[in-house]
This record gives sequence, structure tokens and C-alpha cells, in this order.
Amino acid sequence: MSVIYQRVALIGLGLIAGSMAHAMREQALAGEVTGFARSPETRAVAREIGLCDRICDSAAEAVAGADLVVLAVPVGAMGDVMAEIAPHLAPGATVTDVGSVKQSVIEAVLPHLPQGVHFIPGHPLAGTEHSGPRAGFASLFRNRWWLLTPLPDTDEAALARLDRLVGAMGAKTDRMDPGHHDLVLAVTSHAPHLIAYTMVGVADHLRRVSGEEVIQYSAAGFRDFTRIAASDPTMWRDVFLHNKEATLDILGRFTEELFVLQRAIRMGDGPQLHEYFTRTRAIRRGIIEAGQDTEAPDFGRSPEARPGE
Ligand code: NAP
Repeated sequence: MSVIYQRVALIGLGLIAGSMAHAMREQALAGEVTGFARSPETRAVAREIGLCDRICDSAAEAVAGADLVVLAVPVGAMGDVMAEIAPHLAPGATVTDVGSVKQSVIEAVLPHLPQGVHFIPGHPLAGTEHSGPRAGFASLFRNRWWLLTPLPDTDEAALARLDRLVGAMGAKTDRMDPGHHDLVLAVTSHAPHLIAYTMVGVADHLRRVSGEEVIQYSAAGFRDFTRIAASDPTMWRDVFLHNKEATLDILGRFTEELFVLQRAIRMGDGPQLHEYFTRTRAIRRGIIEAGQDTEAPDFGRSPEARPGE
């Protein structure tokens, strides 16, 4: 592959930025990759493992002369980070973000965007429950969707260039309206995460009553919940606080459905339960046919087989 950006600056050096650094290096997509994280500890680890070509001690130094800047920090920190780097951005540069929520990030970033700098929001639908500078790997984005949510006045050439980078890292790209993105992700990712957090919380409560059996005999359903519920607390706190309306809408619908099934169980309504589970099984088949998961009986444990966020 050929170089797509001469200098890429990664702000935040966790799972997503780290995976981008590995993928860009593997495919030789950037002339130079600089990186910055707020804590000296993260910068030290990033230097030790050679995550980027250059780890800088300030965000200003990292973005100087960059033609692509990637904001890879929790959603709630995007606005402050953008305010900090704005005076140091090169004219004509593109800023993108990888946040799991789009509308609130756009609202936080746009007021700080200097004239002549492009902002193209994005979200890779790929992740694991691990975080930090050691968590990334080059194949994270392979065959995963990377949604771009351009604004009405987004420059087409800048968009096409970012699209090319994302595709070269192995992702499939699509474009979506930011508000629609937030609703879709509330259904496919945010509400399921909250349900997993809740279920593990219930089991933890039960464990205090029933001893260690919950952990010792944990079956596939619960184990999969615990993997999801091990995701980064800061990232997920921010996702819920910043995708409030859509998540509450979906959780309201979820509660209604739960009551329907609860009632069917209480009334012994086997046909209703059977019909419901037959419908949900068809959705699982659809996900496999769409290439979003595999039939492999490893419950998504290998990084290659993991669905994303
Ligand atoms: P991560 O591994 O936890 O890394 C987060 C990075 O952000 C760290 O370098 C951290 O710096 C920095 N950071 C944390 N709080 C900050 C603050 N208040 N100000 C400035 N920097 C801060 O996170 P990640 O999984 O890569 O997630 C990054 C972004 O990608 C998030 O917006 C998330 O919503 C999105 N995303 C995540 C996934 C996923 O599955 N993980 C998937 C798709 C998109 P220190 O290490 O110095 O604290």
C-alpha cells in the first residue's frame, strides 16, 4: 500500500489508537505517526513498545504539521482535547474522532474547529474489553464496519482520503447521519452493554447469597455477559451520559418486552415464548450471514472472531 497521510497524530493511546498505529505501520499508510496521551505512564509504555514513530510530551507537539489528527479519547473528553489542539493544527488538516457516540462529539468539537481544518467524525465498530496502550492489534478493524458521519459541508476530497485510510486498515466503510448512528448504536451496542452490566451486577448480588457457585459454574450466557461487562468503565460511563436520549428510548422498549416475557412465563404461555425465541434465532442467523460474527463455538473469545462495539 502507499502512504495516504504524511503525518498522522494520535491523541489518546488506548485500544483504538494503538490498533490504528499497528495497522498503519503494517500497511505503510503514514509517513510518520506521532502520539500523545495525557498520563506520563501511558506515554512511557507507548515509548517502550514503540507504538508510534514518535511519542510527544504535549498534544500541541504531536499535532504540529500533521495532515490527519485522530481523537481517540473517551467521548466526554473530546471537546477539551479539541480546544487544546485547535491553535496548533495545520491549515488543511483533517481531524477525525473514533468516539462511540457521534452527535454529542460533533457538538463538543465544532465550536473549536479552526477555519480551513476539516472535521470528519467516525466510529469503528470494532473493539474488545481490553484498554490501554498494550491492548491494540493490527487486525482489529479487519472486516469490521467503520462508520463515517460527515457534516453537510464536509469536503469530499478530505472525506475520500479518510475513507481510503480506513479501508486500507481492513475496515468496510459506510456513511451515516450522526443522529441515526446514535440510535442504531443504542440498539446494537449501548443498551446491550448496559444489560450486561446489570446482569453481572445481579449475579454479583446473588453470589453474596449463594456463595461461589455463580463464578465456578458460570455458563456461556453469563460468561459472555461478564466479558462485555469488563469493558472500560470510563469509556462506557461517557457513552451513556452522551447518548442519553437514544439509550433511554431503547431501554424503555426493552423493559416493555421484558415484562411481556415475564408475563408469558408467569402464565405458562409456552407457544408465546417459543414464537418469540424462534424470531430471535432468525436474527442471529442474519448476523452470521452478514459476516458480523462466525458460527465458531468459541463464544467470540479469539480476537479474530470478536464482534465490535
Ligand atoms: P482506552 O484504551 O481506554 O484509551 C483511552 C485513551 O484516552 C488513553 O490514552 C487515555 O489516556 C486517554 N484519556 C482518558 N481520559 C482522558 C481525558 N479526560 N482527557 C484526555 N485523554 C484521556 O480507550 P479506547 O478503547 O481506545 O477508546 C477510545 C475511543 O474510542 C472512545 O471514545 C471510545 O468510545 C471509542 N471506541 C472504543 C471502542 C472499544 O471497544 N474500546 C470501540 C469503538 C470506539 P491515559 O492512558 O493517559 O489515561
